[in-house]
Amino acid sequence: MSEPEHRVKKRRPVLEVLAAIVAIALLAAGIGLFFSGDGERRDSRPIGTIDDVLALRDRDDVNVLFILVDTLRADRLGCYGYERDTSPNLDALAASGIRFAQQVSQSSWTKCSMSSLWTGLYPARTRSLRAYDVLSEQATTPAELFREAGFRTAAVWRNGWIAPNFGFSQGFEIYLSPLSPRGAKMRRIDSPNIALEGSDGDIIDSAREFLRAHGHERWFLYLHMMDVHQYAYSEDTALFGTNYSDSYDNSIRWVDSLLGHLFDELEQRGLRENTLIVFSSDHGEAFGEHDGEGHARNVYGEVTTTPLIMSFPFRLEPGIVVEARSENVDLWPTALELVGVPPLPDTDGQSLVPDIVAAAGGASEPDAEGIAIAHLDQSWGREQQKPRPMVSYTEGRWRLIYRAHAPKTSELYDKWQDPREQQNIADDWPEVYEDLVAKAEAYLASRPPPWGDDAPTVEIDEMQLNQLRALGYGVQ
Ligand SMILES: [Zn+2]
Repeated sequence: MSEPEHRVKKRRPVLEVLAAIVAIALLAAGIGLFFSGDGERRDSRPIGTIDDVLALRDRDDVNVLFILVDTLRADRLGCYGYERDTSPNLDALAASGIRFAQQVSQSSWTKCSMSSLWTGLYPARTRSLRAYDVLSEQATTPAELFREAGFRTAAVWRNGWIAPNFGFSQGFEIYLSPLSPRGAKMRRIDSPNIALEGSDGDIIDSAREFLRAHGHERWFLYLHMMDVHQYAYSEDTALFGTNYSDSYDNSIRWVDSLLGHLFDELEQRGLRENTLIVFSSDHGEAFGEHDGEGHARNVYGEVTTTPLIMSFPFRLEPGIVVEARSENVDLWPTALELVGVPPLPDTDGQSLVPDIVAAAGGASEPDAEGIAIAHLDQSWGREQQKPRPMVSYTEGRWRLIYRAHAPKTSELYDKWQDPREQQNIADDWPEVYEDLVAKAEAYLASRPPPWGDDAPTVEIDEMQLNQLRALGYGVQ
């Protein structure tokens, strides 16, 4: 297996067979997802204001639904300016809620990114950087805080990098990877010998089951969707062509349609009016902008710019757009504060509630000071190799791409003039460059996490390794 940083997925036009399998399987289950259209959905929520947002913490009836669509770059969603109609349901969510316009994920690889998202700590502090690293049991996670606060806690997930043995089930009463009840085997186009189980429709089914059983209690439900990662979709969402980039868009439309049905379920159960929905992703996806396609290979903008949308038990009219830069480490410091649950300890992330209040008052500008960090150990899948940390350090308009193993090859970009990071201007701005290099190095020498030096690792057995390889990762 080639090194992950050198791996370029072989990409061929998609997946008609796969799409047909998914479509037939879901039709056979009688879900009827494909004929319900994506017209106006019923939304009985009352109209609310920023004062209602700030008063959520005083209510004792607010549930939290956290939806994460793996591998979703922000600029492929309509509400983030994409010209294709990939995401009508998410766009509606954003239009009546809060959209964070410049969200940055802390890595381009699921496990590293999710460790930071859950703990509010940058990767240099989670130490969840390599294939065998485990998020310490001593870490405090939002699910633990919700459970202590009396919520039922449940997760439904389909990405092996967040399996329980990597430390991600902490605090969840239910931590379920659904087996496809329909026996549908999906096949990845570049690994046709490895069958994948099911689709994100299974996650929605499990979520419905959970709401049937526990919807009347107070709950925290986390859904980790994978069909965008797999470029999987149905015939009805094959709207945008057949090359790899088109297929990615088709899969977004497919997952968006599934989410539409989940929102309908909440509506029918009367739960829209007491549920905070938080929508995000763990990283983006590259389509040749720099060196190759896919993710988990570098930390350029196309793999670290993700959506963040919050939807409330009421509609905001108009919705709020926060232009200030924000990060996935800020997500739980913000959401926990909004619903009045105690905070995570000693986070690098900060609550975005002040940014929300400023944006609601009309004062939302791109952030001249805003700092964001993303980090990937480029040899994460090669246990025999030394670490090769790659860090993106963004401050205001500048983004440094820092390579700790070869610092002189680091790059500087002006995100305002060159948002796609095509023109390395390190030689033109030597003082800015040196300043950011020093900051990136200081970042890599960060203090330990709140739980101290505990940095456990785990053996991964052959079966789990094969499941991870089936996701397209080179792991040795
Ligand atoms: Zn991922």
